[in-house]
Amino acid sequence: MSTFHIKTYGCQMNERDSEALSCLLESNGYQAVASEAEADIIIFNTCSVRDQAERKVIGKLGLLRRLKRDKPGLILGLVGCMAQNHGAELLKQMPQLDFVIGTDCLHSVPDSIRRAQLRQARSVEVAMGPDQFVELTGHYPGQICAFVSVMRGCDQFCSYCIVPYTRGRERSRPRQDILDEVRRLADNGTREILLLGQNITAYGMAETRHDESRRPDHSPFAELLAELNEVSGLERIRFTSPHVRFMNDHFVDAICSLPKVCKAFHIPVQAGSNRILKLMRRSYSAEEYLERIAAIRNRLPECSFSTDVIVGFPTESDEDFAQTRDLMAQVDFDMAYIFRYSPRSGTKAAKDYPDDVPDELKHQRNQILLDDLAAGSARRNERFRGRVLEVLVEGVSKRNVERWTGRSDLNKVCNFVPVPGIKPGDLVNVTITRTTANSLFGEAVKES
Ligand code: SF4
Repeated sequence: MSTFHIKTYGCQMNERDSEALSCLLESNGYQAVASEAEADIIIFNTCSVRDQAERKVIGKLGLLRRLKRDKPGLILGLVGCMAQNHGAELLKQMPQLDFVIGTDCLHSVPDSIRRAQLRQARSVEVAMGPDQFVELTGHYPGQICAFVSVMRGCDQFCSYCIVPYTRGRERSRPRQDILDEVRRLADNGTREILLLGQNITAYGMAETRHDESRRPDHSPFAELLAELNEVSGLERIRFTSPHVRFMNDHFVDAICSLPKVCKAFHIPVQAGSNRILKLMRRSYSAEEYLERIAAIRNRLPECSFSTDVIVGFPTESDEDFAQTRDLMAQVDFDMAYIFRYSPRSGTKAAKDYPDDVPDELKHQRNQILLDDLAAGSARRNERFRGRVLEVLVEGVSKRNVERWTGRSDLNKVCNFVPVPGIKPGDLVNVTITRTTANSLFGEAVKES
């Protein structure tokens, strides 16, 4: 039996694709192994959103060229966004590669492996679109928390972003397929799902894409959440990522009122300056972003927010950056992914705006925002001391076998002294006795 190892770089969607691909390969008779050294087939599933991931993989493939000389039967493949982005060019540049498969053609990886094993041909498959795409629905067994893809691609074309080119235009999965997948997961012990889509709030809206109204009242994603909320055995629903332009009142009402939807929301803002938001083509203003945050917080004072921010976008001045910092302070985010801008070939920003903010200044601005976040984390966690939180149990803590670990509804890691009989997937009440900037600590409450 041939063995394979998949190395994943990038976002949760890439992780989900790797999981589904792994299940597909196992169903085709290949065996997953934990390291490259044990594998007959090594596959890189690689992100193109940032230059760094691409450079890492190119370096790695350079090293594997030598390994392939010593182990001639070794098969090397590249799949995902980077494969989609560069296609056949990669086969030309890297003779050690046996196949390059884009984001919509993962179902053809087993055929490409067979061709490579028979020494018949090297393959490139980068066609995109509804005619090509087959949703792979396999999951690793026994997961308490599982990723579920609900839509793919994006129609927003933010000026810095390569996703619409590597993942294609928006395509939503049929609601029934998603419900069937989630019911199967819940029947097999999954308690929490993370729904994935590049602009998940546009789920089911492709047909109203050209509607001029900025926030149509109807949200098919809100309806999907309402149906998932009824799935028996499922306890928690998270989702990523929404886009403010699509967060209409129907959606806000759903996330505030559905009990299984966790009240920790990741809402990318990218910048706090309206001038920069316009250059980014984000199609909302800082005021509109804050208004949507307020609409949620007015109904859920306890909820938490996280975000994505880009620093050093072309022409970003001290004043623009100060506005981003100010917006972040106003929202008081629990967490933020902060990225230093780097141009991605093929995007509007790379073509039209010189990358004119010096690297040193990008680093400084990045560090300022990280320091701001760190300064607030201990304070934000301290509010939980003495309270009882419901925790979804993940298992024994890796750092201390006498403690168990899990997450609260607000996605806080809780390490706690267990009660007898506890098992992964249980929901337990935990009294929080100590907090740090990163975690909460406590004791599980015995049921009376
Ligand atoms: S909405 Fe997100 S995925 Fe879509 S183009 Fe903008 S940044 Fe990229």
